[in-house]
Amino acid sequence: MTTRTLQRIIPSVAASDGAGVKLRRSLGASQSLRHDPFLMLDEFYSDDPEDYLAGFPAHPHRGFETVTYMLDGHMRHEDNGGNTGDLGPGDVQWMTAARGIVHSEMPQQTEGRMRGFQLWLNLPAKEKMKPAAYSDIPSASIPVASLGKGVTAKVIAGTLEHDGKKTAGPMQGASTDPRYFDVHLAPLAVFEAPVPAGHNAFLYAYEGEAVVGPDRKPLQHRAAGLLSDGDSVRIEAGAQGARVLLLAGRPLREPVVQYGPFVMNTHEEIEQAIADYNSGALTNERVRRIKVGQPAAT
Ligand code: FE
Repeated sequence: MTTRTLQRIIPSVAASDGAGVKLRRSLGASQSLRHDPFLMLDEFYSDDPEDYLAGFPAHPHRGFETVTYMLDGHMRHEDNGGNTGDLGPGDVQWMTAARGIVHSEMPQQTEGRMRGFQLWLNLPAKEKMKPAAYSDIPSASIPVASLGKGVTAKVIAGTLEHDGKKTAGPMQGASTDPRYFDVHLAPLAVFEAPVPAGHNAFLYAYEGEAVVGPDRKPLQHRAAGLLSDGDSVRIEAGAQGARVLLLAGRPLREPVVQYGPFVMNTHEEIEQAIADYNSGALTNERVRRIKVGQPAAT
């Protein structure tokens, strides 16, 4: 068994998106900072409504998936298919933009804390033009694995193996085979679990700090840490404990051409996406709403 080591740190930088929402961007802060199939990771975290009230008014996407994970606050999603969804603390929305979607993501609060993440996950060329779909995944349907000794993990996507047990998250079967685990560690606690060899993996410490791998390289607060290949991941929390996102996915190894919210394989496909958006053809199909998962046994 080869334990993955921390190979590269991508510190998050202050950024703004939508109509002026303030956030921290690590992956995707520039187009060279990706980790195939992951395109971008934004963390939004503020107690000041001025930072988030403007929200993300109607905007298009084509060619990939967006995964929104709320920790605090309340956002409302509406799309061109007439679908609406409410995201509250612990809820996840998995949106497969694919051929195209126009949607808005607007805060439903005027005070208090807004906190969460948006991940952009690429789609293979053969799926970039499939019909759009989205899944609301309520917090109650996301299992929490207890790994003992002060370690728990919310399993959002893929399956977490630990101590001979398997905890399956509600999102399964995407062609990039994503793992999305939210790992909570008590002070000095250690998380260790298998992650498929060959998958690209990274960590994001959103609370506290950690050391990673057998050589215990430090991962700073609010930084993404890209991992070497290997078949397991080891995270050890600092004295304050830590909360760390662990993401892994099968790399696509395809060309990526991005223009804002469109992520395709060629410049011609980007021009087509822009033309389709302008003509209305980006969204001439209904958006499928997919039911995912059953409420987890508690
Ligand atoms: Fe969006």
